[in-house]
Amino acid sequence: MPELPEVETIKRELAENVLGEEITAVKINRVEVIKEPSWPQFKKEIIGQEVEKVIRRGKLLILKLKKEKFLVIHLRMTGWLHYGESQERARVIFNFSNGKALNYMDSRLLGHLRLRKNYKDLDFLKKLGPEIFQLTAEQFRQMVEPKKGNIKALIMNQNFIAGVGNIYAQEALFLAKIDPRRRANSLSGSEIKKLYQNLKAVLTEAVKYRGSSVDSYRDLSGEAGGMEKRLKVYGKKNEPCPVCKTFLKKVVVAGRGTCFCPRCQK
Ligand SMILES: [Zn+2]
Repeated sequence: MPELPEVETIKRELAENVLGEEITAVKINRVEVIKEPSWPQFKKEIIGQEVEKVIRRGKLLILKLKKEKFLVIHLRMTGWLHYGESQERARVIFNFSNGKALNYMDSRLLGHLRLRKNYKDLDFLKKLGPEIFQLTAEQFRQMVEPKKGNIKALIMNQNFIAGVGNIYAQEALFLAKIDPRRRANSLSGSEIKKLYQNLKAVLTEAVKYRGSSVDSYRDLSGEAGGMEKRLKVYGKKNEPCPVCKTFLKKVVVAGRGTCFCPRCQK
């Protein structure tokens, strides 16, 4: 599933490629991807639109179009975008005035596209928490401290902080030396601070390396991200810890497989 760094990479690439371009045609191969309005209306309203701005909010991408419309792209589990030639397996293809195509790919058809007058009033968007970059260490501490739930589940909860998923939650907890099974309210002030710093550090590094291609994620031109090779614990069950060489363990936390070092992470 794309997380903040993957979606941010796509956002930056889209901004470089489609700003000021007009959508001249749309081919909808799977109508269930279009959540609103009805697909014939979607098609009618989007043709002739020009892309004015590309926005990211949490893991959502939003294309601001010239005639007061927003195309909201929710990639969810397996959605991604490919820019260039039309792709045979695309679920929806947008053709631009520059002759290029933006392909919405989604093997499991779990993502959504919406065309709306506003995007801020979408229920799931209104509930989204702030991004870690918008918070001070002190604000983050005040948010975490009273929570009784599990720390990994908490930082993956989009309504708590937006943009962190299963990969970067594991990485940040490893770097902060915190056992992913701990309860949030059992963390000390200095542990919360370390988590705050490492969440920011790992997300910043992942944006720099254009995301991790562990599932179906590819960047806009179909290239794999470069962060995958830099991950320290994600997907590394029974491999030695990069710090102490103890074999990494895998447990299920927050419903997802979670790798951690039983010696470094307390
Ligand atoms: Zn270790």
